Amino acid sequence: MAGTTQDPYADRYASRVNHMTVSEIRALFAVANRPEVVSLAGGMPYLSALPLDVVGDLVGKLIRDQGANALQYGAGQGELALRERICEVMALEKISASAGDVVVTVGSQHGLTLLAQAFLDPGDVVLAEGPSYVGALGVFAAAQAEVTHVPMDADGLDPAALADALATLRAQGKRAKFVYTVPNFHNPAGVTMTEERRDALVALAQQYDVLIIEDNPYGLLGFEDEPGRALRSRDSDRVIYLGSFSKTFAPGLRTGWVLAPPAVRQKLVLINEAQVLCPPQLTQRVITEYLTHHPWRQQIKVFRELYQTRRDAMLSALNTMMPSGVSWEEPRGGFYIWLTLPEGIDSKSLLARALAHQVAYVPGVGFYSDGQGRGNLRLSYCFPEPERLVEGVRRFSSALEQERALRSVFDGDVR
Ligand code: PMP
Repeated sequence: MAGTTQDPYADRYASRVNHMTVSEIRALFAVANRPEVVSLAGGMPYLSALPLDVVGDLVGKLIRDQGANALQYGAGQGELALRERICEVMALEKISASAGDVVVTVGSQHGLTLLAQAFLDPGDVVLAEGPSYVGALGVFAAAQAEVTHVPMDADGLDPAALADALATLRAQGKRAKFVYTVPNFHNPAGVTMTEERRDALVALAQQYDVLIIEDNPYGLLGFEDEPGRALRSRDSDRVIYLGSFSKTFAPGLRTGWVLAPPAVRQKLVLINEAQVLCPPQLTQRVITEYLTHHPWRQQIKVFRELYQTRRDAMLSALNTMMPSGVSWEEPRGGFYIWLTLPEGIDSKSLLARALAHQVAYVPGVGFYSDGQGRGNLRLSYCFPEPERLVEGVRRFSSALEQERALRSVFDGDVR
């Protein structure tokens, strides 16, 4: 079998495996992680800003004092003490929830998998923002669901377009299993849904009797405003909420959660048990200790200020260096800027040139399940130091200039 290019197991896989493809981002990592490349591709939180000595002491003490329990199997729903702390975190976005309705997961990515397993049969329709988080699209593809994208603009998901999509489905005698949305500091679009649109989205979901999945890993990372009111705070029966400690603490802990209506929560616990028996006990306790004894709100402020400085550096570099015809929205929080290229420039072909200039980004096509996004790309400003971000934008602009010279589609203006 060695050396063959054909997969010798191809006729044995479950059909869902054929719907799983290599993510644009994963495929990029090998090149983007080379030290000479400025990576504007990955969305890695800047963990050097954490008090690592404090976390180290906390983990050591935890093992010494509670090791026999902290290293043991635990409950399939997750530890009660952590679920109570999670309710305090969600209260910052005006969610009033009971710890009994929270299910701890192995990151919110796993929360998405649990929801797919609970709700999606092959051929089911999911309405998702266009563009959408690539990891969610991967989960929906693996579940063999059909994703219909609903456009967004600077104010988030467009309710008129959603109303059209819902009406079209109804006319076909179909009902979407859910609407998937990232309302705050969207990955990859960078935008945030306005309060009015949140009201409109919930009203439409009620009118058409569909569920909403509110995926909210970035909600506490706003630069200018206080956290907005979660969709879940507007309708606790219809909105299933996903949260994560990946961006506010550390992704390596792989801990997130789902807040769901009681009947759904029961199903999710059963699936959680079938998949992982229980979420990791040790990391749950690390987070509980951290939230109980460490000023975590202050730490989130440290992260916010750091990311704001990086966003500002990237925006000012883009404003100075991008040629005319390139556009973007200014994110008010989170990690990402979504760029629209001038007509005729394909972000996937441009990537080879960008990598030759030692800068990486993620082409837009990965954020759609229907081939859109060729004229877009995602830049992240969360990880590189501000001066590296500026250097990255400089390299990107040289790559774009070269592409322009080749295609001569620009008018040569520099704004
Ligand atoms: N949802 C969105 C919108 C994300 O951006 C991410 C991480 N990039 C996730 C979910 C998954 O996060 P976690 O680390 O909690 O699995």
